[in-house]
Amino acid sequence: MAQSTSPKHLHIGLFPFMSKGHTIPILHLTKLIHNHRPQATFTIFTTPANEPFILASLSSLPPNTINTISLPFSTTDDIPAGVESTDQLPSISLFHSFALATAKLQPLFETALEYIQKSQNPISFLISDGFLYWTHESASQFNITRLVFYGMNMYASTISMIVSQNGLLSRLNSNDELIQVPDFPRIKLSKYDFDPTFMMKFDSQSQVSDFLMKCGKSVSTCNGMVVNSFYELEQPFIDYSNSTQPIKSWCVGPFCMADKPTLERSEKPLWIRWLDKKQSEGKPVLYVAFGSQAEISDEQLKEIAIGLEKSGVLFLWVLRIKSKQENVMEGFEERTKEQGLIVRGWVEQREILAHESVQGFLSHCGWNSALESICAGVPILAWPMMAEQHLNAKMVDEEINVGLRVETCDGLPRGFVKWEGLSKMVKELMEGEMGKKVRMNVKKLSEVAKKSVEEGGSSWGNLDTLLNELEIGWIKHVMKDQKTMDI
Ligand code: UDP
Repeated sequence: MAQSTSPKHLHIGLFPFMSKGHTIPILHLTKLIHNHRPQATFTIFTTPANEPFILASLSSLPPNTINTISLPFSTTDDIPAGVESTDQLPSISLFHSFALATAKLQPLFETALEYIQKSQNPISFLISDGFLYWTHESASQFNITRLVFYGMNMYASTISMIVSQNGLLSRLNSNDELIQVPDFPRIKLSKYDFDPTFMMKFDSQSQVSDFLMKCGKSVSTCNGMVVNSFYELEQPFIDYSNSTQPIKSWCVGPFCMADKPTLERSEKPLWIRWLDKKQSEGKPVLYVAFGSQAEISDEQLKEIAIGLEKSGVLFLWVLRIKSKQENVMEGFEERTKEQGLIVRGWVEQREILAHESVQGFLSHCGWNSALESICAGVPILAWPMMAEQHLNAKMVDEEINVGLRVETCDGLPRGFVKWEGLSKMVKELMEGEMGKKVRMNVKKLSEVAKKSVEEGGSSWGNLDTLLNELEIGWIKHVMKDQKTMDI
C-alpha cells in the first residue's frame, strides 16, 4: 500500500499501560484531543480483555474516529491466564512482573505498526505509557514521534528526579531522617516518602531496577512528556523541570475535565440514589475509596470500619477487598446501615465526587483520584499507600492545601492508622476548622482547573501548541518521505 502524500488530519496512536490508573487518564486525554481536533482519528492499542472497557469509555466519541487494536497478551509463570490489568493481579507485589511481561507484546505491536504505516492513514505520532518502555524501540523503527505519559504530577516527578540525581537517599542513616530538597529547601522528606521500589532502583541486581532503568532510558530519548496537570497547580515544579531537563513536560490537564462526570442512563445506580437522598436531607457525605490496586490488611480494615463508625459521619465506601477478608466486615454493614453505604464493584468515581452531597474524600491519593477530587472541589483526607502516593499526599497537604492527612499511631508517614486517629481526622475534615479551610481552598482551585482546559486557559494553550508542533513535524516528515520516494 502507498503512503498518503497529503496528511489532512492527525491520526494518533495511543498505547495505555494496562492498569486503570494509567488507562483512564489516556482515555480522557483522547477526548481532550478530540475537543481540539475533531477531525483527528485515534488508534488505541490494548489487549483483548481491556478492549471492552476502552470502547465503553470512549462511546461518546464519533465511532469513525476510534479504532482499537487488541494484541493477545500471553501469560507468564507468575501472571495467571486472563489477567490483563493490574487491578486483577492476585497480589500487587506482582506489579513489576506484569509490567515486564508487557514486553512480549512488542513483536505484535510492530507488526500492527508496519501495516498501519504502509496504509493510507499512517500514525502521525504515538502517546504511550512510560512503563511500556519497549514502545520506544518500536516507534523509532518506524520513525514515529513518541510522547510519553507516566501518570505522575510534576511535583512528584521533579522531587523524585532531584532526589535520584543527587543520590540523596543513600546518604541517610535511618528511614525517618529528613533531607532538604536542593532548590526547594522548604520541602523536607524522609525515605518513608518514597516507595520501596524507588530505593530498589539503585540496587543493580534486582528485576525492579532493571525495569526502572529501561523505563528511564526510553523516557530520556522520547519527544516529550504529556502530563495530567495544569500550570497554575504546580508552577514552580513545571518551570523547574522544563528549565533543567532536556525533555519537555506538557501540562495539558486535568484530563478528566474533557467531558462531564455524570453519565446519561435510564436508571441511577443505588449509590447515586442514596446520595440524592442524603442531599435532600441536607446531610454531607464522606466518600471513601482507595483506588484500583491498594491492598489493606485485615487489622487495618478493622480500624477503618471502627473509625468511620465512631466518627458518626455519613460515608459512602467503595470497598475492594479479597473475599477471605469479608469476615472482618461481619456485622459492620448492619450496624451502620443508617450511617453509611458500602459498594462492592466498579463505580463512576467522578460522578460520585461531583455529587453535591459529597463533602470530603478519604483517598489513597493516587494522582487521578486526587486530581478528580480537586476538579470536583472536594477536600481530601489523604491516606497514601503505595507508589508515589506519599508525595502526592504531601503536595495535597503542604503545597496546595486542599487536604489533611490521616493520623498514624507513630506519627510516621507509613505508620499504622488506629481508629482513633482516623475518626479524629474524618471529623476534622467534615466538621472542623481545618476542614473548612481546605474546603474553601479546593473550591477555588477547582474553578482554576476548569478554566485551564477552557479556550484561552493554560492547558488549552499548551495542548494547542503541542498539537500544532506535532502537525508541522508530521507534515515535514511526510514531505521528506515523499521526496525520497520521488528520487
Ligand atoms: N476508579 C473508578 N471507579 C472505581 C475505582 C477507580 O472510576 O470503582 C477510577 C478513579 O476515578 C481513577 C482511577 O480509577 O480515575 C484510579 O486511579 P488512581 O490514580 O486514583 O489510583 P490507582 O488505582 O492507580 O491506585
